[in-house]
Amino acid sequence: MTIIQEKNIADKVRSDFPILNQKIHDKPLIYLDNAATSQKPEAVLKALQQYYEYDNANVHRGAHTLSVRATEGYEAARNKVAKLINAASRQEIIYTRNATEAINIVAYSWGLTNLKAGDEIILTVMEHHSNLVPWRIIAERTGAIIKYVGLTETETFDLEQYKTLLSERTKLVAVVHISNTLGCINPVEEIVTLAHQVGAKVLIDACQSVPHFPINVQQIDCDWLVASGHKMCAPTGIGFLYGKKEILDAMPPFFGGGEMIADVYLDHFTSNELPHKFEAGTPAIGEAIALGAAVDYLMGLGMDNIHAYEEELTAYLFKKLADVPKLRIYGPKPTTEGKGRAALASFNVENIHASDLSTLLDHEGIAIRSGHHCTQPLHRLLEASGSARASLYFYNTREDIDRFIVALQDTIDFFGSMMD
Ligand SMILES: *Cc1c(COP(=O)(O)O)cnc(C)c1O
Repeated sequence: MTIIQEKNIADKVRSDFPILNQKIHDKPLIYLDNAATSQKPEAVLKALQQYYEYDNANVHRGAHTLSVRATEGYEAARNKVAKLINAASRQEIIYTRNATEAINIVAYSWGLTNLKAGDEIILTVMEHHSNLVPWRIIAERTGAIIKYVGLTETETFDLEQYKTLLSERTKLVAVVHISNTLGCINPVEEIVTLAHQVGAKVLIDACQSVPHFPINVQQIDCDWLVASGHKMCAPTGIGFLYGKKEILDAMPPFFGGGEMIADVYLDHFTSNELPHKFEAGTPAIGEAIALGAAVDYLMGLGMDNIHAYEEELTAYLFKKLADVPKLRIYGPKPTTEGKGRAALASFNVENIHASDLSTLLDHEGIAIRSGHHCTQPLHRLLEASGSARASLYFYNTREDIDRFIVALQDTIDFFGSMMD
């Protein structure tokens, strides 16, 4: 694709997303809540419909045609996910309900077996609750100690402090790739290299990176990586856990039941091979197939192109936000080319509650999020009870940003006039 086409990504794809073509409170919908969940293109909706209309059957071991089709679709989607993140083997992709479930599998299976009193886990203060609470539970069960990497002055990952926390006691580093609140992009390759030097394993929460730019797990060299389908154009109820094969092989199963076994006796069982060992029970077959369609869609556009276009949007968003007074935006500033952070902005306006802002913007048809975005400890650190967040995806346009900025300014003026 040429650069000219990149600029037109949103124009090209807009009509693929039927949900965007509607009015909210009589105003055209502007959807800026993509960090919470993305919208789904027609190709994904069709894949789901096609599966239930023509191919629905349970997967694996079925000899009949529908079961073969369901199994083939389900397993083909796994190959697509493996390709998207450049996994060395399809066996390294475990389907889960979402990223949260993926992290819990690592916490309970690997954490409970490998951590003991005095071992150290390194997290960051910007983690999503999904990458905090499971480790708190495991730390309390095992006696392991959690240490936190804080923020630099520009509200990014403090690499220097991280280096001082690492030691032979460090057994695990679990870190978000892109913060869903700060929008900072953490130096995961360096984080992994340093952790491996002390013999620690690394889990990357890639919920906000996999949907937005090319990911290469072999280059990052992380031990596990997790993401949710619903933030990358796929349905809810499907996500994945990537893990290095030798590590997943050594981990005990977490959920027990059908699918995850080789043989079952009354007094013992043997586990199935990867990836099935971690996929107990009937999985979300249609959703997995639709995840495959989402990956096809994203790779069809090109992850490089999506990323480049989102950088342009980021530059534009921050340029426009700079003109709005009384705004406190969290996280690092992008370069003028929109590099160095994700296409989202969490902010507070002086004397206006974030939830009032989002309610009033909704009346203008504009969907933004307000609240703690599942990062309560981070918000406490920032001395904010919550924040408003506008988050973009490749189907958003400069016009979306213009309308958001006008509505935001109007809302601020409205509150200002009330206080006079
Ligand atoms: C959304 C998100 C999660 C949790 O995803 P679920 O789909 O709710 O499991 C975890 N981490 C980050 C950074 C997220 O943005």
